[in-house]
Amino acid sequence: MSLIVQKFGGTSVADTEKIRAAARKAIRAQRDGHQVVMVVSAMGKNTDILLELAEQICDNPPAREMDMLLSTGEQVSVALVAMALHDLGAKAVSLTGGQIGMKTDNSYSKARIQSISTNRIEGLLNEGNIVVAAGFQGIDDDLNITTLGRGGSDTTAVALAAVLGADACEIYTDVDGVYTTDPRLLAEARRLDVISYDEMLELASLGAGVMHSRSIEFAKKFGVPIHVRSSFSDSEGTMIVAESESETQPVSGAAMTPDEARVTVLGVPDVPGKSRQIFAAIADRKIAVDMVVQNVGTKGHADVSFTVPRNELKTTIRAVESVIDAVGAEGITHDDQVSKVSVVGRNMAKQTSVASRMFRALAEAGVNIQMITTSEIKISTLVPKSEAGAALRAVHEAFALHKTPSDAQSWHQIKAERGKKADVDALVSRLRDDALESLTLTGISVTENQARVTLYGVPDRPGIAADMFETIGKAGIFVDMIVQGYDGEDGSTSVSFTVDADDLEKSLDVALKIRDKHGMRDAQGGSNIAKVTVSGIGLRSHTHVATMLFQQLSAANINVEMISTSELQVNAVIDANKAEKGIEGLRQAFADSLL
Ligand code: ASP
Ligand code: MG
Repeated sequence: MSLIVQKFGGTSVADTEKIRAAARKAIRAQRDGHQVVMVVSAMGKNTDILLELAEQICDNPPAREMDMLLSTGEQVSVALVAMALHDLGAKAVSLTGGQIGMKTDNSYSKARIQSISTNRIEGLLNEGNIVVAAGFQGIDDDLNITTLGRGGSDTTAVALAAVLGADACEIYTDVDGVYTTDPRLLAEARRLDVISYDEMLELASLGAGVMHSRSIEFAKKFGVPIHVRSSFSDSEGTMIVAESESETQPVSGAAMTPDEARVTVLGVPDVPGKSRQIFAAIADRKIAVDMVVQNVGTKGHADVSFTVPRNELKTTIRAVESVIDAVGAEGITHDDQVSKVSVVGRNMAKQTSVASRMFRALAEAGVNIQMITTSEIKISTLVPKSEAGAALRAVHEAFALHKTPSDAQSWHQIKAERGKKADVDALVSRLRDDALESLTLTGISVTENQARVTLYGVPDRPGIAADMFETIGKAGIFVDMIVQGYDGEDGSTSVSFTVDADDLEKSLDVALKIRDKHGMRDAQGGSNIAKVTVSGIGLRSHTHVATMLFQQLSAANINVEMISTSELQVNAVIDANKAEKGIEGLRQAFADSLL
């Protein structure tokens, strides 16, 4: 018999009428011959209301009591949903996180799932019940109630689908699927029939609010197909699976993160361990740093720029100030009027000129790019906040995201192909600590024979990046990593990119021409470098990966020249002679997490 997990978000159970409608959906699935597990969120804004209540009682509620409080929201809804099911003539049992055996670690308000016992649920299903499970909550080893973090019911649902070997995990929400970009920001956004886990992970981390990031990590790790659909319409929704919508489209989605801030630490001594010290101070305050750009040092000093969410700017500056003397840096600058515009696509890694197409679109819209970082499936740019809306529109248009690609896979195709269940037990037993949500690394590798080209004193105005990378593309040079960051020396920017070592000479020739054309300060090449890559699932939610990478490299006295991070990889460009040693240290440090 097939098994379906149906998750209903807060808006889908916001009032008694909606609760009845959700119950009817489950009953319909059961009548169609499926066993049904419902996972339910707190009604409407109940979690927010509980948070406010706590705030009125005290400024700093104990974490344990906060989780005790917040978990009640879901307990209310599961009971009401089960009552609605009974009233409609179905057999149903509601269960709390503890009752479904959802074991987590003990980090309150952001607990990670360790294991789920399926016996009780399976027994109830076999007796003909619809099981109504509380989302978002679990228990730790001492039976304390924990919660998984805001939006965590998605993760409960996907986790249950994984361990129960469900045929489908349906996420009922107030939007009818995943769009090429947020339809509230851009009317021409198009609903995707299909999107890949990797793309969805990147988009979720860029703030596409459709799904909890950790639920996508879970789905990817255990091969759970997710079907996002609306509670309020019959639209077909979006399937989130391993494949992308198209095999050829370089970009599948675009995102704009409006409220970012840039921080630049000036004159950081260009010796191993210095930037690590800065980022460790920030990580200690649990702030997620994004878009890290370390300019290749001049005169033994480098400028390190990065972005943080705007509301974390003050704390970030305090963190940097606390170590600035120890680091020996010269100062800090910041800008809180910036936004991030990114494109994401699984096919971009195989294609040339994707970056220059994006930069050209921004140039034509008159948008000035202040920072650039790239990873294998994402290009991010930092732009002035006032230009962010126009930037998003230009990029969406340039990649024709409003049009369905001619080779698009349809929802129906994917639906027909699904059904190969992941062997959860086998996968879990390969992870040493047996925890479902533990860090999972899929590889640690070195790309040798790389070279770097850096342009200094790049004028800070629209169109320069577009012209540079079009010129380089026309010369037939394949560019891998690109970073653009602040250049403390004169407020201009500097741009570095990596190429194959064989292409260095040709790239430098082109770079010198670009330098002369735009009156840049200098162009330099560096050879004998290698790229070290740590790949895995959920590298951003496991923030210590980047920190550990830098710690390892600095302990081995290895200087990091360039950095790029994404959900899927952390890359560091280092001296090729030291790559062997660096990799060895990393393999040891991450031995427990490597598949
Ligand atoms: N009720 C929780 C929240 O509002 C969990 C969820 O809805 O996914 O964050
Ligand atoms: Mg939610």
